[in-house]
Amino acid sequence: MLKRIKADFHIHTCLSPCADLEMSPQNIASQAKTENIDLLGICDHNSAENVSALKKAANKFKIQVLPGIEVTTQEEIHILALFNKTSSAFELQEIIYQNLPGENDEETFGMQVVVNEKGEVLHFNKHLLIGATSLSLEKTVHLIHSLDGLAIAAHIDRPTFSIISQLGFIPDSIEIDALEISPLTSISEAKKRYPSKLPMVCFSDSHFLKEIGNGTTFFYIETSSIQEIKKAFLNQEGRKIVH
Ligand SMILES: [Zn+2]
Ligand SMILES: [Zn+2]
Repeated sequence: MLKRIKADFHIHTCLSPCADLEMSPQNIASQAKTENIDLLGICDHNSAENVSALKKAANKFKIQVLPGIEVTTQEEIHILALFNKTSSAFELQEIIYQNLPGENDEETFGMQVVVNEKGEVLHFNKHLLIGATSLSLEKTVHLIHSLDGLAIAAHIDRPTFSIISQLGFIPDSIEIDALEISPLTSISEAKKRYPSKLPMVCFSDSHFLKEIGNGTTFFYIETSSIQEIKKAFLNQEGRKIVH
């Protein structure tokens, strides 16, 4: 049976240097509950180290979590990578770390806090998570798909770090699964502005608690799996997305 799932696949935690330190697992889960969100995607910049903590915290609120990463490609394009399994996100993370030069400067960019489900500090991530990887857009999307993940071009309506801002267009040769529109632009406006056959979704890109719920998309799917979401993107077997 198909269920109506309210989803936000673009949530940062206190691991992202630009996110508020209040973005702890239990705060995020509790705020998502208040907003009646069923399914969260946790996508910190170039890392998935808080995904397990989020899963545990969200479990108490009966909210499901898709492990994810917001990858910064060589072209400075942000791509959301979402998986069924945390181990797949960690596999991608390993490749990212091998291709991500530099160390974080907390004073300049902010703290990168790895926490447990209670929000207790485990350690501080040292990588320059805000930086760009040396992975090309093509290579990034290929890697995500080889790990059975979804690749979504992030906030394509934003003036920075988007496929449109960096390339000026969406290349047909890149097999992106969907385009994300920020809450600043309506889907109907985005469809006029960015004519594309690709499905469009709206997520919040929350860096602060109060932003959770600002951008969501409804999915009619059987289970909260990557396969079902893919079917919804392709309008297969009754699966669909609704704004
Ligand atoms: Zn981004
Ligand atoms: Zn983001």
